[in-house]
Amino acid sequence: MSDTYLDLVNSGATKQVAKTLGLPRPARLRRTHADAVDQPLLPGPVLLLGAGAQADAAAEALLSWDLDVHRTLPQGQVGAIVLVLTELEHPEQMSDFALALGGALRSLAPSGRVVTISRPAEGAEPQVAAARHGVDGFLRSVAKELRAGGTGNGIVIHDGVAADSPGVTGALRFLLSARSAFVSGQFIHVTTPDGATPADWTRPLEGRVAVVTGAARGIGAAIAQVLSRDGAHVIGVDMPASGEQLAEVMNTVHGTALQLDITSEDAGQRILELARSRHGRLDAVVHNAGILRDKLLANMTPEKWDAVVAVNIAAQLRINEQLLAADDLGPEGLRLVSLASTSGIAGNRGQTNYGYTKAAVIGMTRSLAPRLAEQGGTANAVAPGFIETEMTAKIPPVPRQIARRANSLQQGGLPVDVAETIAFLLSPQAGGINGEVLRVCGQNLVGQ
Ligand code: NAD
Repeated sequence: MSDTYLDLVNSGATKQVAKTLGLPRPARLRRTHADAVDQPLLPGPVLLLGAGAQADAAAEALLSWDLDVHRTLPQGQVGAIVLVLTELEHPEQMSDFALALGGALRSLAPSGRVVTISRPAEGAEPQVAAARHGVDGFLRSVAKELRAGGTGNGIVIHDGVAADSPGVTGALRFLLSARSAFVSGQFIHVTTPDGATPADWTRPLEGRVAVVTGAARGIGAAIAQVLSRDGAHVIGVDMPASGEQLAEVMNTVHGTALQLDITSEDAGQRILELARSRHGRLDAVVHNAGILRDKLLANMTPEKWDAVVAVNIAAQLRINEQLLAADDLGPEGLRLVSLASTSGIAGNRGQTNYGYTKAAVIGMTRSLAPRLAEQGGTANAVAPGFIETEMTAKIPPVPRQIARRANSLQQGGLPVDVAETIAFLLSPQAGGINGEVLRVCGQNLVGQ
């Protein structure tokens, strides 16, 4: 599951050869570790561009995190550029902002960050909507021009959400940090002022109980590790056949193993009973377990179609209904995150069954979001692109190489990248982020 090409172009003599030949050189990304947060938030100072109440609130948040904040380009490299566009009312006003960002891009450090903060176009007058929606195409294009592991993402602040609400500052901190290493070209919408700033940013999930399905390996094991590092007690669920692997993962995170096929009729009840009897609460569920049974539709069999539907979506629907029927889950509402996929957004040849279920996950998430919000909870989906796991290791070598390079960062993501995004969506600061589909794909060329 290692990326030999990335290793070669980043070390020793082969690095020089790749440079001389002008070969693409995917960068080593500045990443977090599933078991420790041991690095500064950013690799350098922040340049904050833009004016108004939102810019002042962003400056205050950045200063409160002990960052070195500048309103004009300082000497040397900057770790991030934050561009506040909330006052934009006509497309003609964009040039000053765009050119100011352009003038600063060469100063961006490796794995640096560009973050825009803007308002939604929906419901606005035509010229305002044009100016605001233009930010989508602008930011996504900027992200494609960044080099050396840099990422570009945006925060969209909806009406009624204060400039310094937890969702806005929480999203800003996530997008600046190494936690979002493989998130690029994405927008996070903060739709309500809900949520809370954690007492300790390194343990935002302290005291929470979280269930992770498919936790025995791959992305699920990384989610269990990151949630535990962030303070949660994890209940890991996986097939009885994966019991040994599951026990190993749960031992390392001091979690609880539950051997359970999520397609069984009473899976939600079994999860509830364990959470109640051991902890007296259940705060979060990550629907991560998923399977592939790839075949061209012309060759599809009922077994392959039905198995994928049963695990990837029907089990989630049934478990959610059983959980939502309970009225004793805990002091705060339930937080759900489901694993979608870029295949569910853009489609993928040979994956009609998988693409159907991953798009179904997005439909389910959007429908659940307002229902969960009534009880103080949220439902979001995370759509990974190409992630280096046992699942993608099974793809034949040539299509695997193509798939892992087909994004702006020119490499596959790691399970920890997906796990960090999920941990953010489950955190108290993300309470105002609901019904979102956040891609962790290095700005994959497919889909939006
Ligand atoms: P994986 O195959 O490595 O791990 C999946 C885990 O789910 C396994 O431990 C498996 O035993 C478990 N599981 C399967 N069916 C189960 C069932 N009925 N009950 C309980 N557990 C069950 O997969 P992964 O690559 O880590 O992917 C995890 C999730 O991320 C999946 O939903 C997948 O569709 C999604 N995803 C992965 C990628 C990628 O590139 N790897 C990309 C997009 C989305």
